[in-house]
Amino acid sequence: MSHPTPSRRRLLGGLTASAAAAMLPGAPGAARAADGGPSGQYDTEVVVVGGGYSGLAAARALVAAGKQVLLLEARDRPGGRCFNQRLPAPYDRYVVEGGAEFIGPTQDRMYQLVQQLGLQTYATYNTGKLVNIMGGRRTTYSGVLPLANLLAAGEAGIAIVKLESLANQVPLDAPWAAPKAAEWDAITVQTWVDRNIFTADAKNLLRAAVISLLSAEPRDVSFLHLLLYIRAGGGLTSLLSVGGGAQQDRIVGGSQQIAIGMARELGSRVLYKAPVHAVTQDAAGIEVAGEGFKVRAQRAIVAMSPAQAARLTYAPLDGPLQARMQLMQRVPMGSIMKVQAVYDRPFWRDDGLNGQVTSDVYLPKVTFDNTPPEAGAPGVLLGFLDGQDARDAVLLAPAERKRQVIEAFVAYFGAKAASPRAYVEMNWQAENYSLGGPTGHFPPGVLTAYGPTLRAPIGRLHWAGTETATVWTGYMDGAVRSGERAAQEVLAR
Ligand SMILES: Cc1cc2nc3c(=O)[nH]c(=O)nc-3n(C[C@H](O)[C@H](O)[C@H](O)COP(=O)(O)OP(=O)(O)OC[C@H]3O[C@@H](n4cnc5c(N)ncnc54)[C@H](O)[C@@H]3O)c2cc1C
Repeated sequence: MSHPTPSRRRLLGGLTASAAAAMLPGAPGAARAADGGPSGQYDTEVVVVGGGYSGLAAARALVAAGKQVLLLEARDRPGGRCFNQRLPAPYDRYVVEGGAEFIGPTQDRMYQLVQQLGLQTYATYNTGKLVNIMGGRRTTYSGVLPLANLLAAGEAGIAIVKLESLANQVPLDAPWAAPKAAEWDAITVQTWVDRNIFTADAKNLLRAAVISLLSAEPRDVSFLHLLLYIRAGGGLTSLLSVGGGAQQDRIVGGSQQIAIGMARELGSRVLYKAPVHAVTQDAAGIEVAGEGFKVRAQRAIVAMSPAQAARLTYAPLDGPLQARMQLMQRVPMGSIMKVQAVYDRPFWRDDGLNGQVTSDVYLPKVTFDNTPPEAGAPGVLLGFLDGQDARDAVLLAPAERKRQVIEAFVAYFGAKAASPRAYVEMNWQAENYSLGGPTGHFPPGVLTAYGPTLRAPIGRLHWAGTETATVWTGYMDGAVRSGERAAQEVLAR
């Protein structure tokens, strides 16, 4: 099927004055490729690669400072790891969050954006008890830890205090400079758990907490990285909590509304369907290129996870870029799927349950009440498949995966969960431009050996992305902060 190619004039007509002025005079393309992506050669002051929160925030800050900016996004939408998923008919008036969802206290940049864009938050449903299934026993509880096994709860509580105290010794902008960085970066989280926690249930609780934070197995993650993550998010209790913590609030209309609002403000400075393949710099400028298009600029910001950034080619691949490339090859993405079952109403609320689960069996081991806020909306149970579970789940036939998810929901919430009206999945491992989520994690040895290359600009090239954030790294808020930091670096040149 052939697509009409808008004339150059029509394209320029849609651009703001500054973005239009950014085009090279006589540029051959400056039009759309057949798939609607960019075509030809563009010229601007700063090019941002990636339209997730970090790239959008970088572009926004640069535009506010009067810079000419073009943002290239591989997908046909903004938001990256944040995506509003429309429910199937007859519930298609409602969206649920297929990716990033919650915001909470001290994520100030996200709350500011909500306000600036005229959006609204509402509290994550948190009334009633949580369900815990561990060691084959189902109990309900309130608070952060299940108290069925007092010894285990006590031990886990002490471990949390210890972790938070160790985390406070990690400098946010240079974890590799922590007094015990070498010791902590030499072991995995699992090793620390095995050395410091003795009851099986307490080990399980800590394991579940780490998997739910990073969607990675404790055996895969450097203990130093966990400590950094804990400090950057204001403590483990803050990271794990709903009320007063990182899961406190949701966004009316779905969290991608924020990204959509930011992209709308940037207007035609955002070019979609623009996967970048190569970044080349020389004394005169920097060029970012994909299939059929090139953008020439004075500065570039690569705003994505290290794993994604490693898929671009860089020239010259000089010493600093070789070092950054070595880092980028060593920061794998977590493994994560979100599964959501839709019911006529949130029936678990009638049983005094808030829809939240911690479990050591079944496929989703963590769940939330993900009911949309609109009056009359159906009840939605959200399950997270993290780490090894997510990796195992992609090898199951879809019908079998759904069967296992529903089996889990029945074990957690009773027989009424057996017959959902609809069921949707979002598998981030299947996303070519995310490769997993929620964030990249650092295996042992990486932060101390390669960490200093994480944020250091290389010539005209700057790095953003939540993995480079010093506050709320791994989260949308961290992504925004990282983009703003990269923009400040550019403006300071
Ligand atoms: C399932 C899931 C649940 C999560 N839950 C939460 C939560 O509740 N709260 C929270 O705060 N955070 C959560 N997160 C984490 C949050 O999504 C991320 O921290 C944040 O969105 C990262 O933003 P970013 O800009 O750093 O990266 P990304 O969002 O990954 O943005 C990078 C962008 O670059 C684009 N791109 C990639 N390659 C190219 C290329 N070659 N050329 C051009 N563009 C390219 C991508 O398409 C993408 O848009 C979750 C993530 C997932 C996956």
